[in-house]
Amino acid sequence: MSTSEESGVITVGANLEEVRQKIVQSCEAAGRDVSTVQLVAVSKTKPLELVKEAYASGQRVFGENYAQELVDKAGSIGESDVVWHFIGGLQSNKANMLVKGVMPHGTLVVETVSSLKVAKKLDNAMSEFEDKKLDIFVQVNTSGEESKSGVAPTEVAELCNQITSECERVRLKGVMTIGAPGDISCLEALATCRDEVAIALGMEVKDLGLSMGMSGDYEVAIANGSTNVRVGSTIFGARDYSNKA
Ligand SMILES: *Cc1c(COP(=O)(O)O)cnc(C)c1O
Repeated sequence: MSTSEESGVITVGANLEEVRQKIVQSCEAAGRDVSTVQLVAVSKTKPLELVKEAYASGQRVFGENYAQELVDKAGSIGESDVVWHFIGGLQSNKANMLVKGVMPHGTLVVETVSSLKVAKKLDNAMSEFEDKKLDIFVQVNTSGEESKSGVAPTEVAELCNQITSECERVRLKGVMTIGAPGDISCLEALATCRDEVAIALGMEVKDLGLSMGMSGDYEVAIANGSTNVRVGSTIFGARDYSNKA
């Protein structure tokens, strides 16, 4: 069966199936249980129709980079079992609207926390949702590139420590990185950070996730221990940014 394109129409379901199969194969090659790897389908800039197509193919976890776009999609998809991962740069003045805009419609996970300030804003916003907790990842700048956000690897354990002691409504689920394309040392660096956080917090390594790997490198990332791969263009096709500032 042909996959990515069929008479110009992107076949999301077929693309998803192919990615899922590759995840299974990568897990088998690495001797890992496939249940330890979650696929986040990155739908940023893509219309709601394509998100619905993926939903119809069984996908429940989606990634978005723009707070307003995520809030809009969460409010209009009409399915409450979607888990939305925010994976874009998060300004602290958007944290409140992100939480309050998404939580009533589904589940929110914020993967890009890189300061105590943002964590506290998220924590405050969660006070409206009494018994619920917000799952977060701390973003690490593993490549050292100035253009990439995230905290320096040497500061991750301390930040995680502060967040877990000062923000009672957020739950630390792991660490996340974008990394430099093709640079395995970024994947290794994130795994090292995760191990350091586990020691600093007295947590078990298996309870802290590693969010790394995108369309170009998710198989390599799984070989290096990723538990959360964020795949966009391979599922939804190339993105058009012309309507984004
Ligand atoms: C856009 C994006 C992705 C998905 O990228 P693809 O190369 O399209 O798979 C993953 N992670 C982050 C943080 C992104 O911004």
